[in-house]
Amino acid sequence: MQKISVIGGGTMGNGIAHVFAQNGFPVTLVDIASEALDKALASISKNLDRQINKGALTEADKQATLNRIHPMTDMKEGVANADLIVEAATENVGLKLKIFTDLDQFAPANAVLATNTSSISITKIAAATKRPGQVIGMHFMNPVPVMKLVEVIRGYATTDQVTTDIMALSRQLGKVPVEVNDYPGFVANRILMPMINEAIYSLFEGVSGVEEIDTVMKLGMAHPMGPLQLADFIGLDVCLAILRVLQEGFGNPKYAPCPLLVNMVTAGKLGVKSGEGFYTYTPGSKELVVSPTFR
Ligand code: NAD
Repeated sequence: MQKISVIGGGTMGNGIAHVFAQNGFPVTLVDIASEALDKALASISKNLDRQINKGALTEADKQATLNRIHPMTDMKEGVANADLIVEAATENVGLKLKIFTDLDQFAPANAVLATNTSSISITKIAAATKRPGQVIGMHFMNPVPVMKLVEVIRGYATTDQVTTDIMALSRQLGKVPVEVNDYPGFVANRILMPMINEAIYSLFEGVSGVEEIDTVMKLGMAHPMGPLQLADFIGLDVCLAILRVLQEGFGNPKYAPCPLLVNMVTAGKLGVKSGEGFYTYTPGSKELVVSPTFR
């Protein structure tokens, strides 16, 4: 697999494009919103600067990496020559099914269609195409350039060959792939999201405050980030969408999202990306300040 297309240039899409381009792959980065593409390129540039400051990269490497990324708003054109497409658009079942129906039409017949979905069934996404054997989950972690894991999810029909190829490609990117089967939440989010939900319930029920809950998990369990800060970082809308998939997929009320999470998402408090969640975020400031709502 040589030519890569990434669909969606948000939090994950820009990181995925960054990692492929840095490892020498030409990447077409497709988003419906041209502002999202501008933002993605600015983020990639900033993240490459961070690597330069750490001495891990030269200015020439940065330029070469940026030169390999071709932003585009037309998906048909963006995937026409791709060997591998990694879809990282918004976490919404209807949207993903539509994107995969289109990808199946526009991409070369031998191209592999991967999705970075956090929780939607790979088997369901694959069923929207006429090539279910070539559809696979390639679940990168956030921030993609930093995190080593790729959860490689086999759908019901994914072939051994495609799985082997994607495991090998992930290693080529310097990542550690782990193969898992296609059940709601896979492994990562099946374990992570109930923990985050429980942290939100602890706040909702007044067991403790935002900083206190996060401190317990950081100092008591050696987590590098508390669950509420992590939820802000992932995006509260993404967390809610994943919990709904778990709740529906298993039919078990233990996955029901906390009403506080539902309210926050409805109110547009999505965490880092909207500037406020459990904490408030000011561009350029690293200080972690609890949202006025929870003070
Ligand atoms: P995001 O909201 O930051 O970005 C989504 C992007 O998709 C936006 O730029 C939007 O304009 C674009 N988009 C929407 N419809 C499109 C279409 N039809 N064609 C092209 N682009 C389109 O979302 P994100 O956090 O980057 O999440 C993307 C995917 O990655 C989701 O499936 C999510 O579950 C998954 N994921 C997220 C995280 C995380 O921590 N945020 C971690 C792992 C996986």
